[in-house]
Amino acid sequence: MSTYAGNLLRIDLSSKTAKVEKIPLTYYQGFISARGLGARYLYDELGAGINPLSEENKLLLLIGVLGGTKAQGFSKWVVMSKSPLTGTIMRSFTGGNFGVWMRFAGYDLIIIEGKADKPCYVYIDERGAQFLGADEILGLDARKVQLELKKKHGAKTESACIGLAGEKLARYAVITSGERTASRGGMGAVMGSKNLKAIAINVPVRKPIPFDKAKFENMVKKQSSILKDHPRKRNMTTLGTPYITTLVDMLGILPVRNFQGGSIQNIEEISGDEFYKLKKAKTGCFMCMTRCGGMRDVGKGPLRGTKIDGPEYETIYAFGPLLGIIDRSFIIDANALCDYYGIDTISTGVSIAFACELFEKGIISTSDMDALDLSWGNKEAIFSLIEKIGKREGIGYLLGEGVKRAAEHMGGEAGSYAMHIKGLELPGYEPRGIKGYALSMATSNIGGSHMYGRPRDELSGKVDPLTEEGKGESIAQVQKEQAVDDSVISCTFGNSGLDMEFLSEYLLAATGIREFSSVANLLEIGERIICLERCFNVREGFTRKDDTLPERMLHEPLQNAGPATNQVVKKLDKLLDEYYKAFGYTKEGIPTPKTLKRLNLSMVENDISFFKE
Ligand code: SF4
Repeated sequence: MSTYAGNLLRIDLSSKTAKVEKIPLTYYQGFISARGLGARYLYDELGAGINPLSEENKLLLLIGVLGGTKAQGFSKWVVMSKSPLTGTIMRSFTGGNFGVWMRFAGYDLIIIEGKADKPCYVYIDERGAQFLGADEILGLDARKVQLELKKKHGAKTESACIGLAGEKLARYAVITSGERTASRGGMGAVMGSKNLKAIAINVPVRKPIPFDKAKFENMVKKQSSILKDHPRKRNMTTLGTPYITTLVDMLGILPVRNFQGGSIQNIEEISGDEFYKLKKAKTGCFMCMTRCGGMRDVGKGPLRGTKIDGPEYETIYAFGPLLGIIDRSFIIDANALCDYYGIDTISTGVSIAFACELFEKGIISTSDMDALDLSWGNKEAIFSLIEKIGKREGIGYLLGEGVKRAAEHMGGEAGSYAMHIKGLELPGYEPRGIKGYALSMATSNIGGSHMYGRPRDELSGKVDPLTEEGKGESIAQVQKEQAVDDSVISCTFGNSGLDMEFLSEYLLAATGIREFSSVANLLEIGERIICLERCFNVREGFTRKDDTLPERMLHEPLQNAGPATNQVVKKLDKLLDEYYKAFGYTKEGIPTPKTLKRLNLSMVENDISFFKE
């Protein structure tokens, strides 16, 4: 007995066939599940240099080994692929029930490959997978699609689907399940490129049975009692992620007006407390005591009169200070509009901020922007731009390509104002004011992500965020821990007070896999996953030159940022040297043969010509 299913479902949209395959035990032992397992399959199955929006790309949906059990905060799921935004390996986590339904159906992983000849959706029940025409749900937003699929296949149907932007291949389109989205890196565009509107599951509940049931039950009780009184859990339950907005502003790392500043006046008007006042109901993922979500009323746009789950901190950042706006209602309405079309709020906000700064600097004018006046804070114009991006109309087509491609298309100075790393638009932490984050984002194998390794000691003030000394080692460590968490899918927000020892015991009781029984071994697995992701990227041509930050971070002193005012990232090269050394990579950021051997990545050693020092 074990909580994982041991099977994957391979769906070929070209031939309209589906087959079940065993996942080798060695894959769990070496990569745990979820992000780790996805990295292994993507490395093995994708050829180098493929177009992410071609039928050669594959879309992987994965749940962690503890998903669907009584363990609290372990039932989110992850979508992985080669990203159309970055060209790197990509993983994008989300809530909603779809992942748990995958587990109930008996799959730890669904691999979607090929391309349907016309728009379709896949429906999975006890009889297997059926390929059905999508005419009736085409063009609908994710909320309506899910309702239609419930009407057609039963109220217990759970699905993952795309909105209009995914159908139209906006490069940062999302995949939605319930009220939650796999937002980052354009996973919805990959789904759209396969002519797949949705994948739905309706199967009886089959609870995963732990390897050591008594021990596991005991661990669940222990976890619940740790969580019950944890102060961070209390904040997350009451306020959700918006609770960090004022903290980030205080540190001077809240990006303002496209990363020109790090703090903004009247921040308390968009604080966690203020958004709490607008909260109408609590929401959360399957089996989570924290339930960090909150439903709020939408006042404008196609979802007007309904409620959405949000906004999260990242959306507050992206439609608030980043655009020079302090307006709670606007942030909620902008969030709802992105949900309606199915686009990532971070990438949308950063793309619009990019356009606003070009407008401010006189690089573009209203005539370049479909007659919109993009002065900072023009909410009507910003709302129109979101719609254009969602529909891929006019200037919205170019902005839906992401800031890297938009800047390349515009040429000239535009690239100086494109805030991305490896093509992924930056999240709500100003790298100049927190040097660990600068390094973590620069080296992230998925581009500008705040979730590739959080410098928690800098965020909590235990370590000076402004010093650049010694950050290489500490970021290597938090990235390894994050890789483990992501491969179990331990929710960062839902697992307050849970350390690696606890996680190791949990994993052992759930699966009986001895490789999970020591923290040192788990960290080695984390390192292996990061290394394999890096090898994926190296095979695509990524090297040290790509582990960098926008020029602004390296040369332009940060303004209006409290304690971080006048900061730049001075010694990125030194930080990279330390980081590569900590991982056993060459000066070019490429894993050495010795490192590959130590991490048992022999299959990479075999196509190693590009790894030679
Ligand atoms: S803390 Fe929030 S995001 Fe995490 S599992 Fe719970 S409800 Fe989901």
